[in-house]
Amino acid sequence: MSERTKKIGQYDKDFIWHPFTQMKDYEEKEPLVIEDSDGAYLIDSEGNRYIDGVSSLWVNVHGHKVPEIDSAITEQLKTLGHSTLLGVTNPPAAELAKEIIDLCPKGMKKVFYSGDGASAVEVALKMAFQYWQHKGKPEKTKFVYLDNGYHGDTLGAVSVGGIDIFHSTFKPLLFESFKAPSYYCYRCPLNKTYPSCNLACADELGNILQENSSEIAAVIMEPYVQAAGGMIVSPEGYLKKVREYCDKNDVLLIVDEVATGMGRTGKMFACDHEDVTPDMLVLGKGLTGGYLPLSATITTQKIYDEFLGNYDEYKTFFHGHSYAGNPIACAAARGNIKAFENNDTLKKLEEKIELLEDELKEFNSLKHVGNVRNKGFMVGIELVADKESRDGYAPELKMGWQVADRALEDGVLLRPLGNVVVLMPPIGIPTSDLKKLIQVTYQSIKDVTDKNEL
Ligand code: PMP
Repeated sequence: MSERTKKIGQYDKDFIWHPFTQMKDYEEKEPLVIEDSDGAYLIDSEGNRYIDGVSSLWVNVHGHKVPEIDSAITEQLKTLGHSTLLGVTNPPAAELAKEIIDLCPKGMKKVFYSGDGASAVEVALKMAFQYWQHKGKPEKTKFVYLDNGYHGDTLGAVSVGGIDIFHSTFKPLLFESFKAPSYYCYRCPLNKTYPSCNLACADELGNILQENSSEIAAVIMEPYVQAAGGMIVSPEGYLKKVREYCDKNDVLLIVDEVATGMGRTGKMFACDHEDVTPDMLVLGKGLTGGYLPLSATITTQKIYDEFLGNYDEYKTFFHGHSYAGNPIACAAARGNIKAFENNDTLKKLEEKIELLEDELKEFNSLKHVGNVRNKGFMVGIELVADKESRDGYAPELKMGWQVADRALEDGVLLRPLGNVVVLMPPIGIPTSDLKKLIQVTYQSIKDVTDKNEL
């Protein structure tokens, strides 16, 4: 290991507290120092190459060093680094807003920018809450969320989060919300089987709305894939049914496409699979192609109009982040959208999804793979101690992490979610790299689960 790598590693251990990381474990390992990139690969400070198997935590879209994004950023640097969006605009923010609306489901009209996904979720929650105040229904203050749902780590987002190990600690700080069942078919909370269940989980949500609609402002959910919950894939028709229940009960629908947006599920947005227009659509992560923090809460004319009024009526949406609409981030996002067009990304993705789904079938034959699920390029491979009973491995075995550590030896960088091995490569990944990613993951699961049998 070079002296330089050693120095960086030391500074890291001395001064950085890493997110979502047990630092006691981390301190015992040599840090992996990523300092270069090439397409679907990340390259460490010693020159080792790794396939970016989870798109740098689900943000990267086309791969690294994307010419369209690189040049959009460098061009923008020649004129303006930042100027506020509070009452002022800038060209990339305005042009990007138009491009986003053109891509969005029909009926979406206004883009409210923030930085991270969680901030954009806070915006959606506050907007929905305030909307009903202006509509003369101030008692509509509560939210419905799904078990296993995840919307970020700020307190509003945590209040509508359904992952106990992340969220239960903070319970005393949170506002009260209604919890609907997860659309987790492999471990159906209602003990039913799809399709004979007729989407009973959506009906449960519908019942909550019907019984409490006078106090419910909105439903918030991840469309098609509960990502952090374990890449849980919803059955077809669920989203549409939720939209119908929301309409029937005069409740807004917020879809959080922070993880699913920008092509990840095979279409630009997960909503597009069922032609659903939400009242608010939240975007983040892949919006800049994985380059810079930028998020957006996109809404309809109906919502926007309720906030119009005279200055002293104070109907203004009093919310804003310093870097909202940052021109460099917006330029990167424009470069990202251009790369979709130039490379025919979504069209080419169709074949890659077919290949992926074909190869994933093999995983079912592994003794400790209980469930393999995907929507487009979002894949969860759930490991179980026993296939028959579906009992999971004990957390202290860290099976997901054992698989990731094994895969790293073969040049694949993964980050699991508990016992779920996650694959979410950049959608622009070349087919040969995709094949390698799948093959290394397969072998890693096999090696680790075989070893555990001994
Ligand atoms: N919503 C979803 C669906 C997410 O997956 C995430 C992040 N994993 C967030 C919101 C929060 O985004 P950020 O980390 O950018 O705050």
